[in-house]
Amino acid sequence: MAQDVNLNYKSTWCPGCGNFGIFNALKKAFGDAGLDLEQTVLVTGIGCAGKISQYLNTYRIETLHGRTLPVATGIKLTNHRLTVIAEGGDGDGMGIGMGHFIHTARRNLDIAYFIHNNQIYGLTKGQSSPTSDLGAVTKFTPAPLGNVERSINIVQTAIGAGATFVARAFTGDIQQLADIMVQAIRHPGFAVVDILQPCVSFNHLNTYPWYRQRITPVASLPGYDPADREKALSLASLWGEKIPLGVFFTEVRPTFADSLPQLAGPTLAAQPLDNISIAALMEEMA
Ligand code: SF4
Repeated sequence: MAQDVNLNYKSTWCPGCGNFGIFNALKKAFGDAGLDLEQTVLVTGIGCAGKISQYLNTYRIETLHGRTLPVATGIKLTNHRLTVIAEGGDGDGMGIGMGHFIHTARRNLDIAYFIHNNQIYGLTKGQSSPTSDLGAVTKFTPAPLGNVERSINIVQTAIGAGATFVARAFTGDIQQLADIMVQAIRHPGFAVVDILQPCVSFNHLNTYPWYRQRITPVASLPGYDPADREKALSLASLWGEKIPLGVFFTEVRPTFADSLPQLAGPTLAAQPLDNISIAALMEEMA
C-alpha cells in the first residue's frame, strides 16, 4: 500500500483539536479495512473537518460547503466499484447539507459518511451550529439565554431518514472509532457515524472531560437491539447524563446502485458515452 499520509500539507488544526483523533482513527481504519488507496475516494465538505482530505494520500476532493454528499453520490454512480467515504462537520451536514443528507439516506447510497460533530462552527470562530446544545453560550447565542433552538440529534435523524448503518463514536477513543469506521466502510449501504469531536478553541461546554463523564456503551443499555428500528430510536434519544456510543442500528436493504439497471454491468466510467442515458438516470434521481 502507498504512503497514506500526504506529507505536502501541514495541519492547521488547533493543538488539542478532536480532529486529530479522527484523522488517526481514519488512517487506522484504512489499513484495517484493507482499502486499496487507488480504489478509494475521500470527499469532504468545507470547514475544519473538511481539511482532513488534504492530509490523507488517497484520491480526494474538498467540495463546496454542504455539498459533500451530492459529490460523493456522483462519484459512486459513475464508478460504483470505488469505495467512497464522505466526511464533514455538523454544520456542513446538518445545516446547509441537510437536504442532501436526508435524500442520500432514503436512497441508501453505498457511502460511509463520517460527521465530525463539534457542536459549533469552528472555522468561522465559534457560532452555534445545528447540533449545539440548548442553552449553549456561543458568539452567536450570548448569555443569559444562550442557544434557544433545540439541537439536531444526528443518530435519530439518520435512522429516521433511512440510513442502514448508524453509529456514534468519540474521537477520544481512537480504537473504538476506527473499529466503527471499518464496519461503516464495509457496510453495503449508507453508513452514518456521528463522531463526538471537542473543539478546544470555541466549544468550552462539550469538552473531553464532559464527554468522558457521560459516554456509555449503547450495547450495555436495556433494550439494545441494533436490528430493531424503534428500540434504536429510543436509545438514540438519550443525551444528557448518559450519551450512548456504539452501533445503534443496522439493516441490509438494496442500495441505490442495486436498483439501477444501468449499473448492472460495467461502471458508467467504463462505458462509451453514447451507451449512457443521462436522462434516464436524472429521472431516477428526481
Ligand atoms: Fe479544531 Fe475547533 Fe480549532 Fe477547528 S477551531 S481546528 S474544530 S479546535
